[in-house]
Amino acid sequence: MVRLVRFDASLLDSLLEASRRNHPDEFFAVLGGEVRGEEVIVDSLLIVPFEASDTGAVFDLMSVHLRGAVGTFHSHPYGEPVPSEDDLLLFRRLGAVHAIAAYPYDRRSVRFYDKSGRNITGLVALADDR
Ligand SMILES: [Zn+2]
Repeated sequence: MVRLVRFDASLLDSLLEASRRNHPDEFFAVLGGEVRGEEVIVDSLLIVPFEASDTGAVFDLMSVHLRGAVGTFHSHPYGEPVPSEDDLLLFRRLGAVHAIAAYPYDRRSVRFYDKSGRNITGLVALADDR
């Protein structure tokens, strides 16, 4: 059970910027970091993010198993930052913390979910190391 997420603030801003650049296409990235008991630290990108032109590309990642993934980030160019059925399947496989950013991709348009799809936005602290 996730109780606290420390999410690197500049990493989040970079992901939001990438979402803006990819709009109206979806943007997806796998997040790296560390799990310490009930605390998750998100501070890196585990793989080079790529562009996904439709939700099918995200679904293709179902076959990917990434050692050390602590979560995912992806954008929803249309609609609410709420996980789809495919998103929920992906969440179960790729770590503990999953961010969805809706248009216009600012910090307030991001929601965070755990691997079961529970909204944990209130448990996320942006860690600014500057
Ligand atoms: Zn989605």
